[in-house]
Amino acid sequence: MKPRLDNSCALVIVDVQNDFCPGGALAVRDGDAVVEPLNRCAALFARAGALVVATCDWHPPDHCSFRAQGGPWPVHCVRGTPGAAFHPALRLPADAVVISKAEGPKVESYSFFGEPGLEQPLVERGIRRLFIGGLATDYCVKWTALDAARRGFETFVLADAIRGVDAQPGDSARAVEQMKSAGVKLVTVEEVAEGVAR
Ligand SMILES: [Zn+2]
Repeated sequence: MKPRLDNSCALVIVDVQNDFCPGGALAVRDGDAVVEPLNRCAALFARAGALVVATCDWHPPDHCSFRAQGGPWPVHCVRGTPGAAFHPALRLPADAVVISKAEGPKVESYSFFGEPGLEQPLVERGIRRLFIGGLATDYCVKWTALDAARRGFETFVLADAIRGVDAQPGDSARAVEQMKSAGVKLVTVEEVAEGVAR
């Protein structure tokens, strides 16, 4: 199978925000290493006329996932703060669609598809193939990919453009296995560049 990039494809860049990168409130080790391959990929998609979507975690200050509210995480990605901004080196095409998620105090969503309506830009454009990269492998990337596959998208994860939290050692490796079991295909950015995905 050699899926060519065309307008049935979309790149989904998951949560490449300062708080998930080194120095951030909920830093993923080497999280910023996804920026360069994703920039390359975004440029390829833009050139092919394919959609680029970027998600961001966009929480109120009293979000339910924060420890003060009984959640598992330190305060992170509070809407409008520098921590919630995209990594400064991330280059999105001018017509990229930015999707904010988990905006309500009581709404947690690791998946792009976790809240009704967010997938609307994909439906409207007849997108059938999703290429997913970003942060973090064992949370938002995993759940976005699993939901995408469940919804019938042909789903690829960019193996060299993801990094994980690994709260428990091996979480990211297990996430990759779980995605593969669900029919998600792993592909490198170089393979995307060649128009070849295995
Ligand atoms: Zn969050």
